[in-house]
Amino acid sequence: MLTAPGLCWLCRMPLALARWGICSVCTQALKMQINVCPQCGLPATCGVFPCGRCLQKPPPWQALVAVNDYLPPLSTLIHRLKFLHQPDIAGALARLLLIAAQNARRQQGHPWPDRLIAVPLATRRQWQRGFNQSDLLCRPLARWLGCEYDPCAIKRIRATPVQHHLRARLRRQNVKNAFRLELPVRGLHIAIVDDVVTTGSTAAEIAHLLLRSGAATVQVWCLCRTL
Ligand SMILES: [Zn+2]
Ligand SMILES: [Zn+2]
Repeated sequence: MLTAPGLCWLCRMPLALARWGICSVCTQALKMQINVCPQCGLPATCGVFPCGRCLQKPPPWQALVAVNDYLPPLSTLIHRLKFLHQPDIAGALARLLLIAAQNARRQQGHPWPDRLIAVPLATRRQWQRGFNQSDLLCRPLARWLGCEYDPCAIKRIRATPVQHHLRARLRRQNVKNAFRLELPVRGLHIAIVDDVVTTGSTAAEIAHLLLRSGAATVQVWCLCRTL
């Protein structure tokens, strides 16, 4: 489905600002309606303090910001962005992520990132798709936040088999040492940006790499957090 410029991607109502892509009513409806843990982003009884899982075995990142679970209509928009070659949706999705990050910052007081890092695709997949969806999210976010972003900051140094069929333990092994950092991050606050975070093994591998390289804090920003 295509949408005419100036109409909401979801409800087709005219937009106050065409570049928003999604109207304020739909944006409100897309917001997380349940409590989620501020550190792992998974459903929790309290949305203010880290959940029991994170207290026992914290993820390497300090905070995870997500727009919502991987459910329609958000999952449909991501599918259109990635598989139906509609990269125009990226700006509207990036704006949803910015709103989620602003809300999380208001609640938790996280620092704004100095630098954004896009999770790189394997070279062959990027070549097939023609773009990296994380890169398309990072570009407008970096502009709005006035922070640094270089699409080549991190490189995938070995191809990893597609993850969705692998169990959590195998996913961790699959991405181990798969990335190399190309830019200094010492003392910087970093946000890793991805479209969907499932087990978090890729984000964890990158977060470890950033922290080993001296990053001050690492957050994960994603459109969807799901298991
Ligand atoms: Zn709408
Ligand atoms: Zn948690």
